Amino acid sequence: MSILIYAESAEGKIKKVAFELASYAKKVAEQQGTTVTALTINADDVSVLAKYGVDKVLKVNQADLKTFNAKAYADVIKQAAQKEGAKLVVLSSTTDAKYLAPLAAMDLDASFASNVVALPESTAPFIVKRTAFSNKGFVFTALESDVKVIALGKNSFGLIEANGTATAEDFNPTVTLDQIKVENVEKVSGKVTIADAEIVVSAGRGLKGPENWGMVEELAEVLGAATACSKPVSDLDWRPHSEHVGQTGKPVAANLYIAIGISGAIQHIAGINASKVKVVINNDPEAPFFKVSDYGVVGDAFQVVPELIKKLKEF
Ligand code: FAD
Repeated sequence: MSILIYAESAEGKIKKVAFELASYAKKVAEQQGTTVTALTINADDVSVLAKYGVDKVLKVNQADLKTFNAKAYADVIKQAAQKEGAKLVVLSSTTDAKYLAPLAAMDLDASFASNVVALPESTAPFIVKRTAFSNKGFVFTALESDVKVIALGKNSFGLIEANGTATAEDFNPTVTLDQIKVENVEKVSGKVTIADAEIVVSAGRGLKGPENWGMVEELAEVLGAATACSKPVSDLDWRPHSEHVGQTGKPVAANLYIAIGISGAIQHIAGINASKVKVVINNDPEAPFFKVSDYGVVGDAFQVVPELIKKLKEF
């Protein structure tokens, strides 16, 4: 029996979210006296997973799995879990994983909990802490089935280096592709996707028009961040809909969220609340965003942002 994680990759490179899953699974495995197996699909260098506590890697390398296909990938996860006798399967909360996790749970006849943010409160019964109500509260959920699937909230646990070694084994699951095809909707925003970003630079209607986004993109580039926007901005077609964050857009759980010219409406905050540090730049000291931010600059974005870029470039 082991714990199985699905270690996502993009263009052959293991994603950072996989390291967080590995760190989390290792701690649970230590509690339960078991080991961690990582499933990779068409990833190149998998040895890096050992650094975060993975004991074994099941490597799938199949051309027909090159494009993300939720049903086929869920089927692969099921086969890997059954091969390893895994009682706990841990996925992330990326867009792909949000499709996959409930499907994998269904395939495995397992109970499922999303948005898990901490190590299990207890293992018998198996109780996990999850965010609820647009990240405004927590709930504790007991999973009672034999096999359990959980999805870890992004940046909720962090990375813990274990510096172990992992064995790697080729795994050739049987895949049928006559299944619903789900396009990968993660679009690249700047150089980093919103889901993967440690830092997100987001801007709102305060920027007046799409022609003013150059400074937002420049700030994002300097910081290695993804760009995002408020809902009206994408409704107005100033920015693509893939950048819209909030209650009706993408959730953001970055380490740093910088909001420029965004008022801080409740529907916006609901989607970015899980971010660790929130910085606001707004010329209205009464803007509601200041009430939920960690740091705020009251000022004109057209002066503050270029100045910030200049200072950052001096480092
Ligand atoms: P505004 O409210 O117009 O605010 C612009 C801000 O820019 C102001 O605070 C202003 O002081 C500041 N500003 C102006 N000029 C400058 C300057 N030169 N320098 C600095 N600051 C300046 N919104 C979302 O974002 N995401 C959602 O998912 C979402 N879902 C919704 C769902 C529902 C059902 C509803 C009803 C609404 C939803 N909204 C959502 C919309 C939300 O209520 C707000 O209308 C929206 O977030 C406001 O966007 P904004 O802050 O960019 O614009």
